[in-house]
Amino acid sequence: MSPVYDDLGLTPVINAAGSVSRLGGTRLSEPVRAAMAAAARDFVPLDELQQRASQAIAAATGAEAGYVAGGAAACLYLAAAAGMTRGDLAAMARLPHTTGIADEIVVHRAHRNAYDVAIRATGARFVEVGYLGPASGVGTHAWELEAAMTERTAAVAYPASNATGVLPLTAVAGIAHRRGLPVITDAAESLPPPGNLRRFIHEGADLVVYSGGKAIGGPAASGFVCGRRDLILQVALLQQDMYVRPETWEGVLGTAFPEPPHQGIGRMLKVGREEIVGLIVALGCYLARDHDADQARWRRTVDAVAAALAGGAGLAVRILEPPARSVPQVVVRLDGADGIERAASAVRALRRGDPRVFVGEELLGDAALVVNPMHLEDEEVGPLAQRLSSVLCAR
Ligand SMILES: *Cc1c(COP(=O)(O)O)cnc(C)c1O
Repeated sequence: MSPVYDDLGLTPVINAAGSVSRLGGTRLSEPVRAAMAAAARDFVPLDELQQRASQAIAAATGAEAGYVAGGAAACLYLAAAAGMTRGDLAAMARLPHTTGIADEIVVHRAHRNAYDVAIRATGARFVEVGYLGPASGVGTHAWELEAAMTERTAAVAYPASNATGVLPLTAVAGIAHRRGLPVITDAAESLPPPGNLRRFIHEGADLVVYSGGKAIGGPAASGFVCGRRDLILQVALLQQDMYVRPETWEGVLGTAFPEPPHQGIGRMLKVGREEIVGLIVALGCYLARDHDADQARWRRTVDAVAAALAGGAGLAVRILEPPARSVPQVVVRLDGADGIERAASAVRALRRGDPRVFVGEELLGDAALVVNPMHLEDEEVGPLAQRLSSVLCAR
């Protein structure tokens, strides 16, 4: 199957865990793989390639412009830095030290999450509003957000999550825009449904970040940020390579600037032409996909897995129904006082067997394994169900 993994003495695994970085993100389709291989052959000015990416991303999202970087986390970092620097060359050179730079990012406390580090790594500091859980039954008030915004504010972060008690994005954008502040939305995990490609821009976010290596089916080390053209230009400026001479510099994304920056903190997040091309082609494929057929395939897979485990002693098997047009999953809970331990040892046994199987561990604290059908090929479903039932239904 994969001669290169054979040569390296590695055996590919069955990925029943979804789009996870630790297994390589997503499975690249043949058109994406072919495009990346072809891109690797020849040289091309990356800025011109990013202009093509920008057009493709704008068409897909309804945003003014877009930019490809090495993942959604990289894009969050660039978006936050763009919000802080806004074209100030000296500020770009100073980050992550923020002396004299408005460095506060306002965020609902209920929106804090483990990807925040991508924003904090720029030198930005979070200023939180609201509570964890609805305050006095009404959630966050607009005045709480207003009060958190000062001359030290660089941007507002509004991740696309199902947090409760937060102000709606449209309201947050209205308040932020009255003060000239951009709203940054992390939508890395918001696909499917495909309608979410346009939703957050439509609701007023100024920069929205997506993962290339999740549902879109692009390279694992790709993601894009889309939004206001002036902010996307700032993102691009933060990624210049070092040897730009003022005498010959032509600006970024087809836009001239009086003077080039030094390489900014974005330089560490370099993305190759293979990834940019892979992302452009994957995005085109994602838009053209038969999303109903995906739904039907996922449904067949979860039904088959659930049926194979039904009636297993000590197991509670259920299908986790997603919000509209997202991915259904199978949740297998192990009964008993030692359920968590047994679930953890089942995860380890599945990883070691033949074929090796990786399942979702996000519900391990509830003594449950999760089977995500997103990246399973039809011919993997039988062997997967067999391994699951031999590990989970033994004795
Ligand atoms: C996966 C994810 C990211 C990071 O995406 P990468 O493309 O892997 O960098 C950021 N935020 C959220 C909410 C995610 O789920």
